[in-house]
Amino acid sequence: MNSYPELRLRPNAERLLIKGHPWVFSGAVAARHADARRGSIVDVVNDRGRFIGRGTANPGAEIAVRILTRQPDQVIDAGFIRTRVERAVELRRRSPLLHGVEALRLVHGESDGLPGLVVDDYAGWVVFQIHTAGMEAMRDWVLAALLEVVSPRGLYERSDVGTRRAEGLRNRPTGPAAGDEPPGLIEFHEGEVPLAVDIRRGQKTGFFLDQRDNRRLLASVARGRSLLNVFAYTGGFTAHARHAGAVSSLDVDLSPQALRLGRRISGGLGGGPHRSLAAEAFSCLDHLAEAGRRYGLVVLDPPSLVRKGRDLKHAMGVYTKLNRNGFRLVEDGGYLLTSSCSTRVTEEDFFQIVRRAASGARVDARIVARTHHPADHVVDPAFPEGRYLSSALVRVDRG
Ligand code: SAH
Repeated sequence: MNSYPELRLRPNAERLLIKGHPWVFSGAVAARHADARRGSIVDVVNDRGRFIGRGTANPGAEIAVRILTRQPDQVIDAGFIRTRVERAVELRRRSPLLHGVEALRLVHGESDGLPGLVVDDYAGWVVFQIHTAGMEAMRDWVLAALLEVVSPRGLYERSDVGTRRAEGLRNRPTGPAAGDEPPGLIEFHEGEVPLAVDIRRGQKTGFFLDQRDNRRLLASVARGRSLLNVFAYTGGFTAHARHAGAVSSLDVDLSPQALRLGRRISGGLGGGPHRSLAAEAFSCLDHLAEAGRRYGLVVLDPPSLVRKGRDLKHAMGVYTKLNRNGFRLVEDGGYLLTSSCSTRVTEEDFFQIVRRAASGARVDARIVARTHHPADHVVDPAFPEGRYLSSALVRVDRG
């Protein structure tokens, strides 16, 4: 028995969906039932009427449907969402790769079969973000599932993300959604390093959990070196490097508020001098490179520089210039830790950026580690868009 309104695809539009991709683009839709409204659950059928999958609709958006299941008899209800949340949380709780990790991503959207939902856990304080109309329509089920499965100290909503605009949604008011009111700063440890997050005013859910493994990587080469941390945010890399024995640190970021929290975190760690500079990173790097400054460690962690597909070529040029300046600032025998968080920048693109930048800076570069986001940022191989972080630790020698 089928009680969901239908949305019919154009001929041959189901190819990627059958392989497991969760998105139906608006251009693939031939017709839809009048009840297939924004946020409602629909059955996607091919041009011959064969069932392809069931998901949430958003007729006005570029992504017209986000598939939730391919089982025709699967009802989408509170129990379904609870099972998905349980699966996502269990995967993390049982993973030896995440053993003892106090702050981690519990739900990673499409990659966990929960399109439009991001959930991060900071030492028991759980922050969630709803990105899509479909997930917003299921918000009560999501809250119930998180309370039951995670048993958080408090649940805090940060559905104030720019991507909601593409879904025709305004930001939801941010604030506590259940449980206790979280403290102004939530303290947690990453390995042995004490950190803190401001989930009310911080960017995204407050902290960039996806760089966890890279912070450890940086710490492994930090002893006795000076650090320049560009796009530092609250200085997660800085705290790890200082804890591991870096002799000085300089954080550069546009956000004075993030730098202030960074000073507080790094100040508590002791060690050599720490400075921070609220500045535009590209011109600041130009300036430092022109002045002939050198550091034992340079970290580059820019925001995504690719907005649309056609920006890619331009963005590649910007990444290359950024990394060339990064290389110029590394002293002989030092390291550059560089990242791209653009989904559109492939492994090969990223390699080319590093290659061109090293050659432009006239340094001998040796990639000693290639990394991606950590185990809590799972990747569904049918959804390559969920694989976004590319990083490299590069040893720099001169002459
Ligand atoms: N490395 C950080 C996360 C960086 S997120 C960590 O490990 O926690 C990207 C950061 O870049 C944000 O803090 C943002 O404020 C900053 N940013 C964005 N554009 C910038 C620019 N043009 N110049 C300097 N900082 C910028």
